[in-house]
Amino acid sequence: MTMTAESEMKSVAGAPVAAAPAAEPILKVSNIESYYGPIMAIRGVSLEVPRGSIVTVLGANGAGKTTILKTISGVLDPLKGTVEFEGKQIQRLDPDRIVRLGLGHVPEGREVFPFLTVRENLMMGAYIRTDRAGIAKDLERIYGYFPRLKERLDQPAGHLSGGEQQMLAISRALMNRPRLLLLDEPSLGLSPILVKEIFGIIRRVNAEEGVSMLLVEQNARMALETAHHGYVLEVGRIVMADTCERLRESKDIQEFYLGARDHGERGERRWKRKKTWR
Ligand code: ATP
Repeated sequence: MTMTAESEMKSVAGAPVAAAPAAEPILKVSNIESYYGPIMAIRGVSLEVPRGSIVTVLGANGAGKTTILKTISGVLDPLKGTVEFEGKQIQRLDPDRIVRLGLGHVPEGREVFPFLTVRENLMMGAYIRTDRAGIAKDLERIYGYFPRLKERLDQPAGHLSGGEQQMLAISRALMNRPRLLLLDEPSLGLSPILVKEIFGIIRRVNAEEGVSMLLVEQNARMALETAHHGYVLEVGRIVMADTCERLRESKDIQEFYLGARDHGERGERRWKRKKTWR
């Protein structure tokens, strides 16, 4: 299933006019299938991230969200399908090559190096760079987003709170100046206040620096408020795709992901396969 919207034909003074072609997406995933041994975790998943936008993938535990991100960042090789980043197929490249192309991945569970200091963790994020002045500038930029990290620069990352470790994990990925960032459940295990703070920064990085983002989340409310476009994943398949604005209005989404009550009959969900955004 491709997320490119069907071209709508609009009529001006009776003459049909084709809609302007959508800009090439920064990320285009086509029909990927990935396995853990014999277990198929995602089946025929296709999605796109328009350049400069935030796209979210919603889904319950075990739906396959993390597997999609691992397949994009090269941690897992798909058995079928293609992953195109800025027009280049990357589905068989090593994760290291993919990072160098400008695609960062903040994995689930804030994988910081616990025995290294905050500063050392940040420098690990810049390990492929040699421009010292640029690195120093980027560190300052990151302290602007996360002043708390600056206060703890010389502490081991393992001593930070969960929220601070999440900030560090995001910052470390930003140190490589990615053009696309994959974010896996940044809200996991954090208090509502911290979740709000971190999502505020995610929006700022997107708006101020134009970093495109693919955000995987179980916190559907926050994800739908943050992202521009969204996909719903169920048991390894995309079942719905639309703008977040429209997804928020969907009765199915309200009932099953936003906790609204008594919309329709439980157990009789019928996803509408809408493909209406570009
Ligand atoms: P969660 O929100 O719980 O992280 P998810 O939507 O990210 O869930 P995945 O972690 O991608 O889901 O898992 C998709 C499916 O693959 C699940 O059925 C899961 O049990 C299975 N799976 C994930 N990792 C492994 C693994 N290392 N070995 C075997 N099966 C796995």
